[in-house]
Amino acid sequence: MSMPPTEGILLAMRGTTRLYGIMGHPIAHSLSPMMHTFAFRQQHLDCVYLPFPVAPDQLAPAVAGAVALGVCGFNVTIPHKEAIMAHLDDVSAAARAIGAVNTVHVRDGRTMGYNTDGEGFLQPLHALHLPLTDTMTCMLGAGGAARAVAMALLEAGCPVLMIANRTYERAVRLVAVLQKHFPQAQVQAVPFAEAAPVARQSGLLVNATSVGLPNASGALLPDTCFRPGQVVYDLVYRPLYTPLLQAARRGGATIVPGLDMLIGQGAAAFQIWTGVQFPVEAVRSLLQPFFATAS
Ligand code: NAP
Repeated sequence: MSMPPTEGILLAMRGTTRLYGIMGHPIAHSLSPMMHTFAFRQQHLDCVYLPFPVAPDQLAPAVAGAVALGVCGFNVTIPHKEAIMAHLDDVSAAARAIGAVNTVHVRDGRTMGYNTDGEGFLQPLHALHLPLTDTMTCMLGAGGAARAVAMALLEAGCPVLMIANRTYERAVRLVAVLQKHFPQAQVQAVPFAEAAPVARQSGLLVNATSVGLPNASGALLPDTCFRPGQVVYDLVYRPLYTPLLQAARRGGATIVPGLDMLIGQGAAAFQIWTGVQFPVEAVRSLLQPFFATAS
């Protein structure tokens, strides 16, 4: 009897089943166990994916324990993305440049760290055929996610990247790092209060701040920043359509919700672990109902 892929997981567990998971603290909110276990079932892989709640002072024994138990790979989330690097045998050049790891592959008892946030971010833009080498980008935010996004954009050939952050000095520090890695690009910090005209001019506008809920102190950007022909990408994935995306859509821009990046970074991790294509559209249909309501 054939079974829908979300059912029968326990019946499918065997002595050969390979284990994957996610280390974080807290971790109860994570949808990654559902996303990856579903994807394994879709692709008929004998694997499961579990949440591992790991307190900061338990990270080293958790990594050693995972290797000792034969865990084949795991994701890493807040607060371990930077700290984990000291506990791995090797780290990819991209993850080293970003300064954070979100995916670990264990092979022959050795741990290798990757960062798939950048690739996950780019996937929806490739799907839109956005000509990145010809597009001026304005990014709001200069935290950990912004750093991965900026690296990915510049690696993909983005010629002009303007970075506006609430704490201006943090944007300036990020710009200095990026200029070292990508001297050919024009990378500039912009005071947050002066972001609106730069945002309107940009072909790609990215929100990499953590602001996503309706804000008592007003919108992140005025409605005049959005226009047809522009792509507006919000990393925030709850709600699915943030106030920024709703305003961008009213202004005629093409919008990309953070859920697409969440799926994209998961897809890239899945590919590293298994070498198998991730079932993106099936996973999107699975996850969409778990994200908030608005249109
Ligand atoms: P982070 O390192 O803590 O950085 C937070 C950023 O938001 C900083 O630039 C901060 O500015 C800014 N910010 C916070 N409150 C603000 C406010 N009221 N007004 C303006 N700016 C404000 O966080 P992160 O790891 O970069 O994550 C940023 C967001 O991306 C989070 O919502 C996260 O969930 C999301 N994310 C999504 C994905 C995905 O797959 N879709 C992946 C990674 C991250 P200051 O420097 O001034 O504090």
